Amino acid sequence: MNNHKIWLSPPHMGGSELKYIHQAFAENWVAPLGPNVNLFEDLVEDFLGENSQITALSSGTAALHLALIILGVKAGDEVICQSMTFAASAFPIVYLGAKPVFVDSEEDTWNICPDRLMEAIEDRILKGKKPKAIIAVHLYGMPAKMDEILAISKKYDIPVLEDSAESFGSSYKNKKCGTFGEMALLSFNGNKIITTSGGGAIVCKTKAHKDKALFLSTQARELTTHYEHSEIGYNYRMSNITAGIGCGQMEVLEDRIFQRQENHLFYSEFFKDKPGINLHSEPNEDFKSNHWLSTITIDKEITGFSSHDLCKKFAEANIESRPLWKPMHMQPVFQDADFYGGDISENLFKNGLCLPSGSNLSDQDRALIKGVLESCFVTEKIK
Ligand SMILES: *Cc1c(COP(=O)(O)O)cnc(C)c1O
Repeated sequence: MNNHKIWLSPPHMGGSELKYIHQAFAENWVAPLGPNVNLFEDLVEDFLGENSQITALSSGTAALHLALIILGVKAGDEVICQSMTFAASAFPIVYLGAKPVFVDSEEDTWNICPDRLMEAIEDRILKGKKPKAIIAVHLYGMPAKMDEILAISKKYDIPVLEDSAESFGSSYKNKKCGTFGEMALLSFNGNKIITTSGGGAIVCKTKAHKDKALFLSTQARELTTHYEHSEIGYNYRMSNITAGIGCGQMEVLEDRIFQRQENHLFYSEFFKDKPGINLHSEPNEDFKSNHWLSTITIDKEITGFSSHDLCKKFAEANIESRPLWKPMHMQPVFQDADFYGGDISENLFKNGLCLPSGSNLSDQDRALIKGVLESCFVTEKIK
């Protein structure tokens, strides 16, 4: 019996995280501010470049919530959101009493389809309401078609919020994901490419936006000695303790990106002569994915086994895998939301699987994964 569980995307410490945490204890910076928070923000800013201004927060979801507020989204407004995503891309729209309008994916990147996006915007305008923002996601690390999306954003004067939670370290035309939109969110949740255990950041382009994010995330305290509030605030700042984990993780970020990309190469080597399996890969050289998760779709007609069959086989071997994210327009909680598109994201969900993608997969882990994959193909040949 194999007691060692192989996780889909576990945390992977670099070694110096505890040093920063000890430092915080030594100096009694046990608070949602302090030197680790400042250093972590500087490190992320240096990594992203492009004059990005970082505010470290308690989660990526909080970052998106604040971004929508800063853009002026209010109750009754509409916000366009990629349907094929994790629910946190859409939930903050609802926190504000606004309405999500979902748009399907395109086949190349699995991200928001520019044609469908245009169709959605035109139809909403025709119906009397121009959407307030467009939330584009770089799902599983794969950059969205930013040139086309930004052109649409410009044409209709609707800002893009970039959900870069899964794409820290990815780039499109040599520009890093997270630097394209009016604002972007990053996530440092435990399952992401680097982690602060839980945490996130909002990426702003202007000092005014950054100041506003900082203000809102610290209970909207006015600059007075007593507590004075003329706006509603939030308690969304990152802790100096968890930021210490982030500082340690930034030291190994490049390694983590490399290791995830190596996983993709490992799968690509395995699947290269296996018909019926499509390993999600960059459509061309403009796209550079961090390959946060390696993902496949399976054509059961050809392979004889489905993504569910494979998921089950992995589970029996104590290996975690997971279906692709279920699109938002198929979620019970969003059953009344409008959707523009066809069945692309729906089919991805039905036929897709996220493969074990940790940056700490050992050779032995890979051998076990390969064994399960091989057994699927072998069984089918005998049948
Ligand atoms: C993880 C994730 C988020 C939310 O980030 P948290 O830090 O967990 O709040 C948002 N969008 C996507 C696509 C994600 O994968």
